[in-house]
Amino acid sequence: MIVVMAVSASEAEIQQVVAAIEAQSLHALIMPGGERVAIGVPSAIPPEIREDLAQTLGLLSGVDHVAHVSRPYKLASREFHRADTVVEVKGVHFGGPQIQVMTGPCSIESYQQMATAAKAAKDAGATVLRGGAFKPRTSPYSFQGLQEEGLKILRQVGEENGLITISEVMQPDLVELVASYVDILQIGARNMQNFPLLIEAGRSRHPVMLKRGPSATFDEFLLAAEYLLHNDNQQVLLCERGVHPVDRSYTRNTLDLNAVPVLKEVSHLPVIVDPSHGTGVSRYVPAMALAAIAAGADGLMIEMHPNPRVALSDGAQSLTPAQLQLLMARLAQLAPAVGRFVIPLTGGDLKPQMNANERG
Ligand code: PEP
Ligand code: MN
Repeated sequence: MIVVMAVSASEAEIQQVVAAIEAQSLHALIMPGGERVAIGVPSAIPPEIREDLAQTLGLLSGVDHVAHVSRPYKLASREFHRADTVVEVKGVHFGGPQIQVMTGPCSIESYQQMATAAKAAKDAGATVLRGGAFKPRTSPYSFQGLQEEGLKILRQVGEENGLITISEVMQPDLVELVASYVDILQIGARNMQNFPLLIEAGRSRHPVMLKRGPSATFDEFLLAAEYLLHNDNQQVLLCERGVHPVDRSYTRNTLDLNAVPVLKEVSHLPVIVDPSHGTGVSRYVPAMALAAIAAGADGLMIEMHPNPRVALSDGAQSLTPAQLQLLMARLAQLAPAVGRFVIPLTGGDLKPQMNANERG
């Protein structure tokens, strides 16, 4: 249930609604909006009191209307919050007209690698620098990441290039540490239902990008996002990164672009698409990145490495800086067709047209 207050509602009227909800031993969550405040009742309301409560609340002064939220997730649902949520991180807006591109290598390997990647990201017009410091690797023998040392490098090159940063956190007791270095916490696909991690990341109130698990339903995905919102973190980005494929001999995952219109319809949260993990093959990344934006995604996460052939992880799906530049130019051409824009190029001598290299 959501109680939408009138634009003119006073603080006393808001508190009266909160008190009426709490009198039923229910939790009331105040959600300030651009124009008006909404008060949500995120937990299940016993059916025998639902109608009476809605009526009582609807009659209180300052209340505009009361709406029922039918989805299992409440705070993440568009019934709860009709307008698109715009998440602002240090002046970068996710969910507005500008398409935000997050890019950088899968893993942070060295200062030099990150400095080169950051400059390439900046020159191409990306706004967010990515790099994994704590890596969820299928094999314990694979490179596990530079950990805190990597976070220091990420923060430094981010600052040197005027880019905000994102990196994955895998365990609850490291949320504080990772949040002290990066602007956005990434919760990886394998950890989508790591509930202690979601609770801790929620409590941190640090911006979070939550990746969809490879076999998660949309309800499971949005209920995981609900954990973040329920723990008072409103700065949540959803990320589709591919689901288990029917045929793994061609692609690593199947990028589920259905997720974009579905999530945009049922939720107000910004939707980011990761075509790198979604395909696992660098030559398929540009096509799927463009398709994601055409489908209505608010941003992209794209792995890019100064020299993918020597990458310590995910080289096969990483673009080169030149391939990223070309993709960004094509995104800039596509964006206006769907009412969006990307920031203009600031470097390189790119000619924004298709050529043979793009497919290589
Ligand atoms: C990553 O972004 O490098 C990563 C490990 O992603 P995912 O959690 O989607 O596999
Ligand atoms: Mn990766």
